[in-house]
Amino acid sequence: MKSEMVARFKKALLEQRAQVTSSKKWAMEGLALSTDDLADEMDLSSAELAQSMSLQLKGRELMMLKQIDDGLARMERGTFGCCGECSEEIELGRLEAKPTAILCLGCQEATEWEAKRRLQIA
Ligand SMILES: [Zn+2]
Repeated sequence: MKSEMVARFKKALLEQRAQVTSSKKWAMEGLALSTDDLADEMDLSSAELAQSMSLQLKGRELMMLKQIDDGLARMERGTFGCCGECSEEIELGRLEAKPTAILCLGCQEATEWEAKRRLQIA
């Protein structure tokens, strides 16, 4: 991939990263985790619910952060935009929609098909 294209995607990833880390959800989660202060005003079940919701949120946000950092690391290594399965270039349109994509469309579909197939067997 051309370096100016990589630079464009790098900007997109960094913007996405800033959005994730500064999002209100992220800040709220920090509050929700300190259930000690809330315990007086909330019954246990709603405190537990808030905590489990915040943990789910944390998982999602952390996963996004990891994907973004992976993408940035792949830029450093010069492998950004290459499919992790077949090493072909990932479609540009696909990267534009999802700069954290690590598989080309074909491999992604194959992976999803495989996952669905496994679910059906289980
Ligand atoms: Zn591929």
